[in-house]
Amino acid sequence: MLDETRIRLEAIQHVRILRERWVAVPASELRGFTVLGEHIVLRGQQGIFKPAELSDPLSITTTISSDYTHDTIEGSCVMYDFVPPSREHENEALKRCAETVLPLIYFLQLKKRPAPEYAVFAPVYVVGWDDETRRFLVDLSEQRPGEIVQPARTTRQLKLPEIRTPDSPNEVHELTRSYVVSTVQRRLYEARFRNAVLDAYRDHCAVCELHVRPLLDAAHLTADRDPKPFVDVSEGIALCATHHRAFDTNVIDFDRDYNVRVTLPTRPPAGDGERAMLLAYDGKHLSLPGDERQWPRV
Ligand SMILES: [Zn+2]
Repeated sequence: MLDETRIRLEAIQHVRILRERWVAVPASELRGFTVLGEHIVLRGQQGIFKPAELSDPLSITTTISSDYTHDTIEGSCVMYDFVPPSREHENEALKRCAETVLPLIYFLQLKKRPAPEYAVFAPVYVVGWDDETRRFLVDLSEQRPGEIVQPARTTRQLKLPEIRTPDSPNEVHELTRSYVVSTVQRRLYEARFRNAVLDAYRDHCAVCELHVRPLLDAAHLTADRDPKPFVDVSEGIALCATHHRAFDTNVIDFDRDYNVRVTLPTRPPAGDGERAMLLAYDGKHLSLPGDERQWPRV
């Protein structure tokens, strides 16, 4: 029999790798994975899921109940409702996870059927529950409870910006805490932003009309990327990976009439690639959402 800890850790590793590839992971990628020839299922349709190979739950999946406010995020934590009393043993199992500080995977549904997508957080920990309101508190910060969080260190930075040194350990704790909270909320906001923008553009690149969702991004039009309570589609535009990069590097732009402008360096002279992927769209009108309010703010 496979070691349970190994299965759990490999499952977490597996979903973290998927997350590097996808802002929102398609359900088709989350069916399961293989450890030493054995197929392990990662999640159920919804709720608390325990694969046959493990004695405790491995993942929690939430589904969309409304367009946006389907979960209560407080700081880096999310409230998760108990499953109905008919399945009380599942709630008990999740309480055990809290008591033994067992790492779990949290799947938050961001896009509805038929092709659902999920934001993935792992490892997450159940840090508490309330029997009265029948809710768990799950920390999505991906830090073991009680661990001091260190923001990523900047390496080889030659000229350090002037920053004030925090005065006390308490202040350090507060600063790192707010860093973690903003990381969680930013990741969620990014995934929702992409979903809303791609939906508005019906999964097409606004420049070349490429219609392959995994190859599309929601490019930001403003420098302000702070998470907001609602996504404003007009702050973004759906672009394929190539046109996104071209937009970010000012190779393509668009004017007030929403016509594409391509600016290439004169040297070396444009070849077939530049002509096919960039110059062919010079002057083309952007493909925009039906609703004018969603058009990019220019
Ligand atoms: Zn494109």
